[in-house]
Amino acid sequence: MLLSADWRRQAMKIEIPETPSRLIAKLYEFGYKAYVVGGCVRDTVMGREPHDYDICTSARPEEIMRVFRDYHVIPTGLKHGTVTVVSNHEPYEITTFRIDGSYSDNRRPDYVEFTADIEKDLSRRDFTMNAMAYSPVEGIADPFGGADDIKNGIIRSVGNPDARFGEDALRILRAWRFACQLGFELEDKTKKSTYRNMKLIRNVSAERIRDELWRMLDYPRRFSVCILQRNPDIIRTAAGCEERALYHPSALTGAENCCKTVRMALMLGYNLGMNAEEADNTMRRLKFDNGTRRCVTELVGNIETELIPDSYSIKCVLNKMGEAQCRRLLQLGKITGKCENPEKTEALLNRITGENQCCRTSELKINGRDLIEAGIKPGKELGDILNRLLDMVMRKELENDRDELLKEVKHDTNQ
Ligand code: ATP
Ligand code: MG
Repeated sequence: MLLSADWRRQAMKIEIPETPSRLIAKLYEFGYKAYVVGGCVRDTVMGREPHDYDICTSARPEEIMRVFRDYHVIPTGLKHGTVTVVSNHEPYEITTFRIDGSYSDNRRPDYVEFTADIEKDLSRRDFTMNAMAYSPVEGIADPFGGADDIKNGIIRSVGNPDARFGEDALRILRAWRFACQLGFELEDKTKKSTYRNMKLIRNVSAERIRDELWRMLDYPRRFSVCILQRNPDIIRTAAGCEERALYHPSALTGAENCCKTVRMALMLGYNLGMNAEEADNTMRRLKFDNGTRRCVTELVGNIETELIPDSYSIKCVLNKMGEAQCRRLLQLGKITGKCENPEKTEALLNRITGENQCCRTSELKINGRDLIEAGIKPGKELGDILNRLLDMVMRKELENDRDELLKEVKHDTNQ
């Protein structure tokens, strides 16, 4: 443990795993300084297990490449000082201490400048809790009081919040996302500055907005309280629909057991009152992948669909949407009240799918070819007959049995 007189380096020892420790030790061996930094230090101080370890160092990118020449090294972002070193099949980002140059587009620095000073590197970071670094040699570097802010559950900008949000407006969304993720409060000046600078979010790239929004939905309860109930303008601005009214702001508190697509459908369709087309346009604008977009849009389009505990009705939904979407619609209906008896409906759904009960023409025990052999002409009539047979099977008026089905066809066509 290091007992430094320097006020900035507190006598605090935190545990870091073997691999990042070894990578840091190697940089010291070559005469450079190195720290774990950012989220992993924040999480460790909070007693949470970090999901990855970022390393920063006084070594320049080409020097990092030299130190790790025996490793698999990927020059991820040499211009920004980042090199990825693979160790034990795990990638570790190692970044040179840097100062960000001026920002002209509220997005990214026009240039970056390398430095040998960890504190300068920490001062470019967004919040005090994310501006801490730890080195087994130097101890913890916490020049902005991040550990205290963590103790008090506070998210505070490093430096002047207006200036920091002006540099990169994504930080506004990050601040609120961290509020949802950690259950922290925004410090007053930081919070007011997010309000003042809200419009700058429009300058942030769609992909970055999308990622923050999607991460907020990991915490539906806090998202509902912090964002929808108290600060709905954040979501309106992020979704690009500033004028929209907001409905049922507490609905998502009940969405802990819903999957993320259902939460997204609730937010767009139920909170923001969008129809399927509006939800589709919003998700296109935010560059969601096609699969997620289609899935959410279909749910939004069916937000008024009643789910009742009746075998035939459930089979109709299964026929239209498939099992996975039907289950999502059930989750949605539990929240919106469109599913009047969720337990019974779910039990029936489980039975229908568990027994592979027939819900689609493709699952009938006869197909188009059988009908042609039975003398039906190919074309619309053939499709109509299959649909009618399916409907009878789904209503349990007819067995899904080849002979029974053929008998019905013959009877129907008076053969
Ligand atoms: P998470 O657990 O979400 O990964 P994190 O803090 O590690 O949290 P990252 O997006 O991985 O978040 O960023 C790593 C670090 O880089 C942050 O801790 C912060 O110090 C800095 N950082 C990231 N994004 C910004 C930004 N937009 N502005 C300033 N600093 C940032
Ligand atoms: Mg991270």
